[in-house]
Amino acid sequence: MELSVQEYQYLVSEITRETGAKRDGSGKNLIVPRCPFCGKSGGKFGIYIGKETAHRRPFMAHCFSCGASTRTLEQLLAAIGRMDLMVSQTADIAAPLNLHLLEEDEAEEIDDELVPVELPDFYKRTFRHPYLQRRGFCFDDYEYFPIGITGRLNPRYADYVVFPVIDDSTVVGYVSRHTWPKEDIDTHNRKTRHSGGYRILRYRNSTENDFSKLLYNYDAIRMDETDTVILAEGIFDVIALTRRLELYDNSHVAAVATFGKKISDVQIYKLQSKGVRTVVIGYDGDAVESVKRTAERLKPYFEVFIADIADAAKDWDELTESEIYGIFACRLLSVLEYKLKKVQEK
Ligand SMILES: [Zn+2]
Repeated sequence: MELSVQEYQYLVSEITRETGAKRDGSGKNLIVPRCPFCGKSGGKFGIYIGKETAHRRPFMAHCFSCGASTRTLEQLLAAIGRMDLMVSQTADIAAPLNLHLLEEDEAEEIDDELVPVELPDFYKRTFRHPYLQRRGFCFDDYEYFPIGITGRLNPRYADYVVFPVIDDSTVVGYVSRHTWPKEDIDTHNRKTRHSGGYRILRYRNSTENDFSKLLYNYDAIRMDETDTVILAEGIFDVIALTRRLELYDNSHVAAVATFGKKISDVQIYKLQSKGVRTVVIGYDGDAVESVKRTAERLKPYFEVFIADIADAAKDWDELTESEIYGIFACRLLSVLEYKLKKVQEK
């Protein structure tokens, strides 16, 4: 069965009326004020009404609070108590809908779809690199975290190390870090500002997928097996934590990075959909406000702890093994403990 555009529009308007939903900014989702499964208010229940994609079908719905999902129109109508809207549709309800009229809408909101990304030309994997050796990389790091270089064949990336971001075994992005120290890059850029020379970018990253939809090391989270995730800001933090806590083959605990000091709805959804229960926020010690905000966003969905780094100026790759062990053994704080502690420290 294919729904006609009229039938589709009628369903959307009836569902909207029944649930009191509003469209989100992209127009591709209905945000329902109260979840029909858990009753939570605050617009946590979303119904996808955009065109069919590889991962999404119209009328799929998900609650970001209780995690309940519906995959078909029928399940959704049952959930909101409007099976009467199903009556006219007798044939194959699970068949894809054909919604060409909706194509013009390009905005993206609650949309976890990713496109595959090509790594820079001449990328090849490396298992030893002076820059990474200096940052403490060991054999297992290269083994578990693919890292590459392009060499001189690709001048644009010649002085960079490239970290592919992988999701479901597919490259969906990359972060490239120039191998000079930050101070040297700044000095170079200052000198060339007037001479008209080229500027060095410290990072040269992929642009196809927004990084707020990605998590570095996401595949290390095993479906319904990994219970606890440590949330870090960047790739070097993830690798340092994995090395120091020896998480390489640990199927219950994984470190992932959000590419910054905040977490998006899509990233939360990605953790939830793999059955993660506990999140330990491991952002830099000086990011107090960001940690608090992130903790509040995570609290409805996970058990949340905060890894409180004693020396706020240090990153994970600057701490010793015993310091890191100490943080996880003795300094994991609940959200409330963290807030109280930060008030006292002021
Ligand atoms: Zn719910």
